Amino acid sequence: MNQITPIAEAAGCTQSPVLRERGQREVFCGLTGIVWLHRRIQDAFFLVVGSRTCAHLLQSAAGVMIFAEPRFATAIIDERDLAGISDANDELDRVVGRLVSRRPDIKMLFLVGSCPSEVIKLDLSRAAIRLNKSLGPDLRVLSYSGSGIETTFTEGEDACLAALVPELPASDAARLMIVGTLAEIVEDQFTRLFTELGIKNVGFLPARQAAMMPSVGRGTKFLLAQPFLAGTALGLERRGASRIAAPFPLGVEGTTAWFTAAARSFGIADAHIAAVLKAPAERAQHALARQRATLAGNKIMFFPDSQLEIPLARFLSRELGMVLAEIGTPFLHREHMAEELALLPGGTFLSEGQDVEKQLDRCRAAAPDLVVCGMGLANPLEAEGFTTKWSIELVFTPVQGFEQAADLAELFARPLRRRAMLRV
Ligand code: SF4
Repeated sequence: MNQITPIAEAAGCTQSPVLRERGQREVFCGLTGIVWLHRRIQDAFFLVVGSRTCAHLLQSAAGVMIFAEPRFATAIIDERDLAGISDANDELDRVVGRLVSRRPDIKMLFLVGSCPSEVIKLDLSRAAIRLNKSLGPDLRVLSYSGSGIETTFTEGEDACLAALVPELPASDAARLMIVGTLAEIVEDQFTRLFTELGIKNVGFLPARQAAMMPSVGRGTKFLLAQPFLAGTALGLERRGASRIAAPFPLGVEGTTAWFTAAARSFGIADAHIAAVLKAPAERAQHALARQRATLAGNKIMFFPDSQLEIPLARFLSRELGMVLAEIGTPFLHREHMAEELALLPGGTFLSEGQDVEKQLDRCRAAAPDLVVCGMGLANPLEAEGFTTKWSIELVFTPVQGFEQAADLAELFARPLRRRAMLRV
């Protein structure tokens, strides 16, 4: 193999009509992102300014950390604090002061807003400026909103990273920035491949440590590793960086195209790119055979949840032979999704937003073999006899890259195998 085999494009869905719905939706809020962000940035702390509901959500989504000092908490602002905004600000300063004096290991503190009306009245960006004056420069205080009114669950990460962008050091040196939270094992694999390709100066946003955040400027080219980072991408572009257009690194095709787009943008010859990617791509294709036998011919429907739906559907239809009933996505960013849409089978039913009752009716009519949806819809759908997959698992599990392609396919194959066993 000494040349890149172009991905055979299907008729594509670039111009396909999209059903837009703005009714009741069943999606987690952006606070959920803290669950994976706090694991990624190891010296950061996420202080949710919210209600008991927010505390319960975080606790049940993230579980209790038994062996380590926790790196997220909720400062509960309830009716008592309505007496005065200055009281609430004083209380917030006191909570942060106590936290920082107990935890000198924390280098970056995120104040995370939520949706209770008491919290909306608090200006957390001003609180962050105030606290930075008293606690910086050893500790950086930033703020963003994870409110369910403004964000769906993966948008919490977008809001967090967008808050980080203005803080990144400035440099116009040529560099590649990978944007989006990745598991460390995936970051290590990607770093090895970029080195083999000959791309030097690769940084990851977010980095593992607050002091390791990459610099940005006119020489920065960035590659999105996650499809839900519209605000972060805009912030990086405002700082002079340019986005490398590519499909997302899910499955063998997506990962090959993602690395190829990056390498070409740094002037690396196709023959070298093909030589570097050949072995890992072939290994991954081989590993997919078992899941293909389970998944091929089965019909799948995506309810809108994580914004990963379109790249996942592309992978499942093109590499595993699944039939797409409907791909729902909370938001469709046509520019960031252009390469993905071009690879979908022509005529795929796309929907954006949600009107949950209508979508449930469409699901019953389509009778898919597998439904990918949020946790809130999974149980009722299972009770109706559908086989489901929680979309949140796809964000918590390392799924990007060649070596994870079979693990990703397995997440969809497992519920189908379980169903087959139950029916025996
Ligand atoms: S931010 Fe809003 S939607 Fe999210 S847990 Fe708190 S109250 Fe609920």
